Amino acid sequence: LAQEMARLDRLNLIGEMAAGIAHEVRNPMTTVRGFLQLFRGKKQFAESIEYLDLMIRELDMANAIITEYLALSKNKPVNLKMQNLNAIIEALFPLIQADAALSGKYAQIELGDIPDLLLDKKEINQLMLNFVRNGLEAMSAGGGLTIRTYQDDGAVVLSVQDQGKGIEPEVLDKLGTPFFTTKESGTGLGMAVCYSIAARHNATINVQTSPQGTTFYVRFNCA
Ligand code: ADP
Ligand code: MG
Repeated sequence: LAQEMARLDRLNLIGEMAAGIAHEVRNPMTTVRGFLQLFRGKKQFAESIEYLDLMIRELDMANAIITEYLALSKNKPVNLKMQNLNAIIEALFPLIQADAALSGKYAQIELGDIPDLLLDKKEINQLMLNFVRNGLEAMSAGGGLTIRTYQDDGAVVLSVQDQGKGIEPEVLDKLGTPFFTTKESGTGLGMAVCYSIAARHNATINVQTSPQGTTFYVRFNCA
């Protein structure tokens, strides 16, 4: 537990720092993006459209990273409403399926009968997508993802199961440490964001892994 607290404190510090600079960094980025968009529509830049598009994409990527950092702040305002987790998953599922199909994989859902919970829809979407992306990245073509919800001992559980290569013990120890990644172009923020979102929902995360695949369990207490 002490280790968990220390990790959340570290995450929070990063999130607070991100919150402090987000506005200052985003404003000039918005200006630059606006001008790039403007140039894109001008005849004299017709030959440079490729580069303009690349610049816009890179700015959007930088912006997405700022959003990930912001999600690490404990004091991030949450918009908790009583709602059903299944409805959030169903709305997001077409996007997940498209994501999976893009790399020759598939995704399926098995949603059980569960009570409403206090949830921030945007945050739950982000949590799901982070697990889903990791699951897809861990699998070779043909593999499947299964997203489940069910009740267990007074709690609601969301699980995301993949048929990937599993997680090595030394990687498992570092899971959720900001910037820890085994991927060439990973940010190492996805899991850290998941832990932070779970903490704001009074939920806990557990993982079960083997060389046949990995399952993440998010356990929401329905107190
Ligand atoms: P990133 O995806 O940018 O590397 P994450 O925080 O999302 O950062 O994940 C950290 C690391 O945890 C990954 O680099 C990977 O090694 C490991 N990991 C996370 N989820 C899985 C999974 N489902 N299967 C295998 N490895 C995983
Ligand atoms: Mg990731």
